[in-house]
Amino acid sequence: MQTSSANSTEPFSPALDRQSLRPDCGNCFALCCTAFGFSRSADFALDKPAGSPCQNLAPDFSCTIHDRLRPRGFRGCTVFDCFGAGQNVSQGFFAGKSWLTHPDTKDEMFSAFKTARQLHEMLWYLAEAGARTFDPDSSNRAVKLRNTIKQAVGGELTDLLALDIQELHSQVRSTLVGVSEEIRASYFAAGGDHLDSTLKPGADLMGKNLRSRRLCGANLRGAHLIGADLRDSDLSGVDLLGADVRDARFDRTDLSKAIYLTQPQLNAARGSRATLLPSDLEMPSHWHDG
Ligand code: SF4
Repeated sequence: MQTSSANSTEPFSPALDRQSLRPDCGNCFALCCTAFGFSRSADFALDKPAGSPCQNLAPDFSCTIHDRLRPRGFRGCTVFDCFGAGQNVSQGFFAGKSWLTHPDTKDEMFSAFKTARQLHEMLWYLAEAGARTFDPDSSNRAVKLRNTIKQAVGGELTDLLALDIQELHSQVRSTLVGVSEEIRASYFAAGGDHLDSTLKPGADLMGKNLRSRRLCGANLRGAHLIGADLRDSDLSGVDLLGADVRDARFDRTDLSKAIYLTQPQLNAARGSRATLLPSDLEMPSHWHDG
């Protein structure tokens, strides 16, 4: 059994909470390169069945084309983020015994990774919700959920595999939505483009020109922003939970106070050194110097 802080009532500290949610590939058995299956696409240049190692994977779990992933057609690998689930499953649940040396663990290890990845992602979002809300009830809900999830990802493998993740997901989503509404409302008094009726959850905004707009407070949860032009715009207080921002243009965009923006979203988008980012996200290495 792993050490768990499930009963902790400590307040949110986003930096600390998120520190353990960053990938540590050196302590992972390349679970993202084995557990998932992929069909050949613009993001992954070959067909790969779930549960089998990628043909570019080396025996030491490193990627043989790590420095050439995009030009070789593996853009998806530069976008993916496990939120620290890989090292947790490899070193925590499986105590450093890999699927390569212990092939009988494969099925459970890959199942555990898929579940843990979702839970770690929930922890990432809850850290933000807990840190940004001023509502004690929302804060308490976020803390309670965080502790439940921490118990699951720090406990027994059998409990993890038996978890009703849909029910947990629904509770987390409800908390995230409530905190989003609270944050976005604080931007409404100042006016802005949140009143634009085309800017709504799940909206089809593919390739749309949203350049130089003050989008503060808009709800773009689950919106399709593929290739959208958001250069020079202000996305403070914009809910981007689950928004598809592949190839969206973020040059000089203010994302510093966007809501529920994740590293995989940034990795999939285009931007520059002039893009303003939240303090706990990193500029993707492929962003140019413009
Ligand atoms: S190309 Fe490299 S990073 Fe991508 S799945 Fe294969 S081994 Fe992993």
